[in-house]
Formats: sequence, C-alpha cells, structure tokens
Amino acid sequence: MNKLQILVVEDDASVRNLITTTLKAHEYKYIVSPDGSGAICQASTCNPDIVLLDLGLPDMDGVEVIRKIRTWSNMPIIVISARSEDADKIEALDSGADDYLTKPFSVEELLARLRVTGRRLAIMQSNAGANESVFINGKLKIDYAAGCAYIGEEELHLTPIEYKLLCLMSQNVGKVLTHTYITQKVWGSSWDNDIASLRVFMATLRKKLEPVPGSPQYIQTHIGVGYRMMKVEQE
Ligand code: CA
Repeated sequence: MNKLQILVVEDDASVRNLITTTLKAHEYKYIVSPDGSGAICQASTCNPDIVLLDLGLPDMDGVEVIRKIRTWSNMPIIVISARSEDADKIEALDSGADDYLTKPFSVEELLARLRVTGRRLAIMQSNAGANESVFINGKLKIDYAAGCAYIGEEELHLTPIEYKLLCLMSQNVGKVLTHTYITQKVWGSSWDNDIASLRVFMATLRKKLEPVPGSPQYIQTHIGVGYRMMKVEQE
C-alpha cells in the first residue's frame, strides 16, 4: 500500500492523465499542476513526497521550478522530459533534480523510478533518526567512522579517491550524480581531464566492487550524464 503523495507537473493533458491513472491504480495519492507557478505553490503548501516534473511548461522552464523548490526543500524531484539531449538532463540534475525519465516512457519505467525514490526517502528518513555511521547496501558495507568498506566479510582495498567516490555514491543512493557534480565533490573542479580521471577511477572502483564484471550490481552508468548507486535488495 503506497501512502506517498506525488505532485504531477505536466501541461499535456494526455500525459497527465496517463500518469495520474497509473498512480491511482497503484494507490499513490496525487495532486496536479499544469504549469510551473502552480507547481511551486503546490510544492510549498502541500509538501508532497515526490515531484514528477515536465521540463517544457507553458509559463516557465521546469529547471526554474527545480531551482525555486531547492531554495527551501530537498523533496525528491523526478524530471519527465521529451528532450533527449544530455545537456538538458545534466542541467536539470545539476539544478537539484534526483532522477529523470525520457518521453516516451513506459508505465513500468515510471513505477520503477517511483519505487527507487520511495526507498531512498525511507532510507533518508531512517538515517535522519539514527544518524547512522554504517551504510549497508546488499553485500556492501561502509563504516564511515572507521573509513573502511567491505563486500561481505572481505575488506575492500581502495585508494583514497576510490573510497571518496564510493562514499559520495552511497550518500546519494538511488540518485543519478552528474560527472560535474562528482568531480566538484571529489577534486573541487570539473575540467575535462577531471572527467577523464573520473572514468578511470570509476573503472578501478567497479573492478573491486562488482561481483560480476560487465553486469554491474551497485553502480549504474548513465552514458553522457553520470553515475548512480543502485539500491541492492537484501538477500
Ligand atoms: Ca510540456
């Protein structure tokens, strides 16, 4: 039973109906806005759990909506956009969106994104209470206080950069992080050669982390955009 309330921001009535029908069938609660200013107002008055946001809105760019909401809230925002260009996705993610879905999308894809975001919300809420110093995801365990990471019982021998990358990904589990965001956090800059270095460090980290090379379980690549740590189901 889903109790999450979703704010659906979409000016195209047919897409909006597809989304709300899907939400209704899966017992999500929802509110809708056909434009950006209405969305900002609804986000502040109703405090929804997740925002589904179209980028091409009649009164303002969806990216502007993200920036406004981010001035007061960390509520998860999933961008839904017909724009397939990487630059638009990157701008939305760098402005604070959590994930994106490219139109046309399938209902299953939409539901999967909502489940991932819902799980991340639950983790955020439980972490907020417990102030956890240990992160667990499937077989991966990170002891932030000790500065060690493990797969099962086995300690991972990571370089400082690899460890920093792993911590950054784990602290944003379920969320796509752009190349620019990661290099800013790790190196404090985002020149082209930092992004090239990032690819190298990500490759060496994955070699140590992933049980099956070529079929990544923990870190997913979003080509031309960035990386995401997947939430792995407990075995
Ligand atoms: Ca639109």
